[in-house]
This record gives sequence, structure tokens and C-alpha cells, in this order.
Amino acid sequence: MSGTFVIEDDAYNKLAEHIENTYPNEACGILIGNLHDNRIYDIKEATNRENDKRESFFSMNPLEIYRVEKEQKEIIGFYHSHPNKTATLSTSDKEYMVPGVLNLIFAVTKNGVVDMRAYRREKPETTDVKEERVLVHI
Ligand SMILES: [Zn+2]
Repeated sequence: MSGTFVIEDDAYNKLAEHIENTYPNEACGILIGNLHDNRIYDIKEATNRENDKRESFFSMNPLEIYRVEKEQKEIIGFYHSHPNKTATLSTSDKEYMVPGVLNLIFAVTKNGVVDMRAYRREKPETTDVKEERVLVHI
């Protein structure tokens, strides 16, 4: 998995809506797509399980990932938002990033999504993270 990734506009709109509706808390979810051509054609919203600090942390229920896999859908990666912060990696993002898959981070303000960045941790044994290119297909 490498190269340029593309998000279909329907998936992007769904994702942006989820992030904007969840503001000022962090939103998180699953990117569904096709690993052969690096396309993201759908998303699955997940519940942020953090109880009292949802504006700066998120955690996902593994059962939500399991359900997507059970529907025979390919998981390309995950997304989450950073309300009122940049789309750069936090310390816990680096620490807990699932290796190999795409991780999209969205900067969001009260006016909506303002930035998107994509990262991929190459190996589980290091916290080295590569920035990837993601285009929104309109
Ligand atoms: Zn983060």
C-alpha cells in the first residue's frame, strides 16, 4: 500500500459531515475502499469512546471494526479529527497508530473542515510515520 490515494466525493462529504457534526469533540471512523487502486469509496462512523476528554482524544470500539470486516468490506484505514488544532500527529497518534494502513487527520474549526493530512506508519516496531498524498475526487 503506497502512492496516491483518492477519496470519492460521496465518501468525503459523509466524512466531513460526521466531523463537523461531532465538533467540538473528536470524531473517528473507518475508511472503506479498494486496496488495488487506492480508492476510498465509503466510510463508517465510529463512536468515540472517550468519556470526559473527547475534545482532544478518541478511542474506537474494536467491535465496530469487526462489523465492517464481517460485511466483507476492505478497510483502507482510519480517520479522526482535531478540533481547533492542526492536522499534524499528536504524541498519542504516533504511539497508537495501526501500522500499514492509512490514517487521515482532519483539522476542524467551528467553520468546518480546514485541512486534511494522511499518514502511514510503516513498521510496527518503530514510530516512523510517512506522509501520504490523498486527493478528493470531485
Ligand atoms: Zn489525533
